[in-house]
Amino acid sequence: MAIQRTFSIIKPDATKRNLTGKIAAKFEDAGLRIVASKRIQLTLAQAQQFYGVHSERPFFGELCEFMISEPIVVQVLEGEDAIAKNREVMGATNPADAADGTIRKEFALSIGENSVHGSDAPETAAEEIAFFFSGLELVG
Ligand code: ADP
Repeated sequence: MAIQRTFSIIKPDATKRNLTGKIAAKFEDAGLRIVASKRIQLTLAQAQQFYGVHSERPFFGELCEFMISEPIVVQVLEGEDAIAKNREVMGATNPADAADGTIRKEFALSIGENSVHGSDAPETAAEEIAFFFSGLELVG
């Protein structure tokens, strides 16, 4: 499997509880390199655009309000099979279903406030990276 890049968000429930470093360590321990990282405050319009694919879902409003409730940390992770590896380290969407040792099992509060986002495919990874970062900010 080739070297890939994927996009990650450390979500408001985690930044609020000062878990940024502990979550970043999970990525690094899994062999992922953080090649870009910044702490930002999303606007409502940006949150709605980012999660546009979920706009018809009943939790869309709640999700967007949550994502702007505190700053987030957006990162680009690089490594072999990075997209799948990151999803594995994150664990299932609902922390009740997440495997032991995963970020969501250890830190997530609920299915909505679940500490991290990670791209689910190469196309979404490329789109999400481009949404938040310029090429100059990616330092492999
Ligand atoms: P994942 O983040 O694991 O890829 P999804 O793409 O299905 O999961 O959902 C995106 C995000 O929407 C989730 O991470 C979570 O924050 C939120 N979400 C998903 N399902 C629910 C739900 N039933 N109730 C509230 N929030 C939800």
